[in-house]
Amino acid sequence: MHPEKSSTLTLICPTCENPLQLSSSGLRYGCRQGHQYSSRELDQALREQVYRTLSTTMRQVQEQERLLRLLTKHGLLPQSEEQLPLPPFIHRVLALLTNPRPND
Ligand SMILES: [Zn+2]
Repeated sequence: MHPEKSSTLTLICPTCENPLQLSSSGLRYGCRQGHQYSSRELDQALREQVYRTLSTTMRQVQEQERLLRLLTKHGLLPQSEEQLPLPPFIHRVLALLTNPRPND
């Protein structure tokens, strides 16, 4: 695959969320706001963004779970919501975040 001059990628700038374009040299990514990344810098920025997002999600799910337990304990949830389970994917995300993979 040969990058075209200033081709638009499906990548999004991790700073401002505008589309990123590959420079004519194919070595830099930039958005219309002027943020610039090398491939390594973009990879690192995206990794940090994923980590922050998943950490925030994990904390919010844990807070929601604690709140639901507390409300259930005090009988403050309507009957239909008392056994409201968390979506299965949330448990998989929590497991991934709290248990290192065997190959790491
Ligand atoms: Zn940007």
